Amino acid sequence: MEPRTSLAGVGETALGVALVRAEETGRADRLFEDPYADAFVAAAPELFAEGPAAPDELALLGALFTCLAFHGVIRTKFFDDHLLAAAAAGGHQVVLLAAGLATRAFRLPWPPGVQVFEVDLPDVLSFKDRVLAEQDATPRCKRSIVPADLRQDWAARLLEAGFEPTKRSAWLIEGLLLYLAANEAARMFDAVTYLASTGSELAFDDGNLVDSSLLAQARAIRSMDQFTSLWRGALDEDAPDWLARHGWKTQTHDHAKLAATYGRSIPAHASGDLVTAVRSNGP
Ligand code: SAM
Repeated sequence: MEPRTSLAGVGETALGVALVRAEETGRADRLFEDPYADAFVAAAPELFAEGPAAPDELALLGALFTCLAFHGVIRTKFFDDHLLAAAAAGGHQVVLLAAGLATRAFRLPWPPGVQVFEVDLPDVLSFKDRVLAEQDATPRCKRSIVPADLRQDWAARLLEAGFEPTKRSAWLIEGLLLYLAANEAARMFDAVTYLASTGSELAFDDGNLVDSSLLAQARAIRSMDQFTSLWRGALDEDAPDWLARHGWKTQTHDHAKLAATYGRSIPAHASGDLVTAVRSNGP
């Protein structure tokens, strides 16, 4: 049978997050509801077919997925609330860098006047829009998709799509940094800094999902190459330090504390922080 998705490589990781959101949506004590996550998963069954795995690999995969699910859920809830607050405070241009299959434009109660820009690779956005069209999904704001590679000239594509750098904006970089090399991540943050006017907000996760011991175990297993080969390391310094040097006031949010606020516990081996920042010295 012809596969329904052409997603490959890093684009597939968006489906992993959709699976996490579908599972959370099915919980009685869910922290958010994503009515489209199931449809993305159903549209790519070949990606979720389980191959044979040795018991130690299964245990490792289980630990990795538990951390991925924990991060996916906590950050979705945190960033939903953060973006709505930023939009309510006047950041009417919301830019989702590496938007993947996140459906915030469709499921969040945006205030009037908000435009959401979704930047991701062309095959990811075309898969997303095909599935959303099949679901008759209607955005709850103005939505503009910007197919582009974040290692290349995505800023020009964003401007062509109508982004206005002189107006306030709210940026989200969710689940991406891990997949960029240090120079690529720095170039992307440079472009965001250039495009974000004073008072604009930025939020992201720092790219760490698991602690160094689980990371080393995963890298040592050949069958994990399909995942580990995508992990490129993100910035080679603390992102908050980088931002502070480039005119941003940053705040770090501890995962364990956030989880406790939401009534969830932090799994073994989970690592990483969420960061928010305000542009203090813009153009
Ligand atoms: N932010 C989304 C979410 O949380 O649901 C997606 C996260 S997913 C783990 C990583 C996303 O980064 C994928 O959608 C992938 O296509 C995107 N991505 C990775 N490298 C990229 C690049 N160079 N340019 C554009 N998008 C990229």
